[in-house]
Amino acid sequence: MPVQRYDAIIIGAGMSGMYQLHRLREFGMSVRVFEAGGDVGGTWYWNRYPGARFDSESWSYGYSFSPEVLKEWEWSENFAAQPETLGYLNYIADKFALRRDIQFDTRVLRASYDEAAAEWEVELSDGGRARARFLITALGPLSVPTMPSIDGVDSFRGESFHTGTWPHHPVSFEGKRVAVIGTGATGVQTIQEVAKTAAHLTVFQRRPNWCAPLLNSPIDAEGQRQIKARYPEIFAACRDSHGSFIHKADPRKALDLSPAEREAFWEKLYGEPGFGIWMGNFRDVLSNQEANDLLTDFIAKKIRARVKDPALAEKLIPKDHGFGTRRVPLETKYYEVYNQPNVTLVDLGETPIERITPTGIKTAAAELPFDMIIYATGFDAVIGGFNKLDIRGAGGRSLEEKWAEGPRTYLGLQVAGFPNMLTLVGPHNAATFCNIPRCIEQNVDWVTGLIGYMRQHNYTTVVPSSAAEDAWTAHVMETGERMLFTKVDSWFMGINSNIPGRQKRTFLLYAGGAPAYRERCDEVAAKGYEGFVFTEGTRAAA
Ligand code: NAP
Repeated sequence: MPVQRYDAIIIGAGMSGMYQLHRLREFGMSVRVFEAGGDVGGTWYWNRYPGARFDSESWSYGYSFSPEVLKEWEWSENFAAQPETLGYLNYIADKFALRRDIQFDTRVLRASYDEAAAEWEVELSDGGRARARFLITALGPLSVPTMPSIDGVDSFRGESFHTGTWPHHPVSFEGKRVAVIGTGATGVQTIQEVAKTAAHLTVFQRRPNWCAPLLNSPIDAEGQRQIKARYPEIFAACRDSHGSFIHKADPRKALDLSPAEREAFWEKLYGEPGFGIWMGNFRDVLSNQEANDLLTDFIAKKIRARVKDPALAEKLIPKDHGFGTRRVPLETKYYEVYNQPNVTLVDLGETPIERITPTGIKTAAAELPFDMIIYATGFDAVIGGFNKLDIRGAGGRSLEEKWAEGPRTYLGLQVAGFPNMLTLVGPHNAATFCNIPRCIEQNVDWVTGLIGYMRQHNYTTVVPSSAAEDAWTAHVMETGERMLFTKVDSWFMGINSNIPGRQKRTFLLYAGGAPAYRERCDEVAAKGYEGFVFTEGTRAAA
């Protein structure tokens, strides 16, 4: 097969890859997107599990770049379900004719940098190869599902699914004995849905998470009108908040207030939709242990009030971390599910799984028969997609080896030794801890600006200096240190019990906040891309 040649290759046709393709077309560049899935959508293409829906307000999640899209598209609910989001991304793909530059069902297996030609070459799952000056990774931070490292997983003869690779055909739980392993944000959404129709649902919980009410509701005609009128205000509010949500931290400190004042505020937040209780809380609750303990006690009381069996309530209350120090799953009557007669919780701390058998799950206490096992066991987060790719930079250096002790990047967008590779939503990028489309647009706009600058100056390659990379990595660690979530095991910290060697905490996100990150990126650009090294050359490819 002849090598295909482009100006830029984008890996992934999720929200970031789609928008990057759209923006690069402005330059008249030839761009090819390679996508492992059968259509656009990324996360929303793969995660079709029951109950999958936004935890961000729908109207704060869509793209903001097109006034026409904002006028045309209407979300039916404040927190839309997965089919609607996938529908939205299909509408975007149609509207901007994106598919003509996307090759579906094609996984990039390897990417290597050819120094002499100053080009990237990728090897594809269909046996083909393609070359381009720029390699833009749009992999998504949660795109490599991990199965649990439990003996016998392959031996089960019933139906079994990982939530992150859910089948396209309808799956019925009616009359079935269903097991769900995992109680993260995905497990919680799945459990709520499966409990409605399964004959019996058994939840296998290793560690509980602190969940908070989603409080979803439909959007009526007047609501639609108001949202459309308020879009500039909504996006301005997101721009101004730490995680780019509409919820902004309260400037007060919990510890400065009386117990009555604190509780009144927390009651209000607990009764409001979305992430307000996490992102819109007092500014010390995620950084000061004492403040966090108070909030944690408040939420524990809520769980005790909602679960009828006090012993069961205690099992659902995390004891190893405070509220908000891991990703908070948002829920709709999740705790009430455990009051149903058709739902059982198995606490793996007390009763570990010994193995999966052909007919069910054998725990230390019993052999439980199941018709279906659902694995909601999470992802090889943020760096998993990169490692899977086998990326080789200048001198054949492996990215996985470079990041063996943790990622090192400049702005979470480029890596020293890997010229012209740009990592949208990469590790140590604010987009990893963000109402993600808001930060995706920032990432893509910035990368587009950089490529425009290179075209203007006839630059062939860009790569960060080692000094810039060292300084950014140190800054990421320093801002992380201030947050309580770097003291707790979770995917934020690169922990994955199912992957050998991933039990040591390595901070993968950026905790300095989206506004500070955006300012830094803008400042770097304004100073002629300070910290980046360019080489001049022909403009053959770019
Ligand atoms: P996760 O948060 O990593 O949770 C995985 C769950 O599986 C945990 O409860 C974990 O227990 C359990 N688990 C893993 N391996 C296990 C094993 N071998 N045996 C028993 N239990 C095991 O993954 P996730 O729930 O898929 O969520 C990942 C992220 O996706 C979320 O944090 C969120 O950012 C995103 N997400 C977003 C939405 C949304 O916006 N609507 C919805 C879903 C997910 P331990 O806690 O003990 O490790």
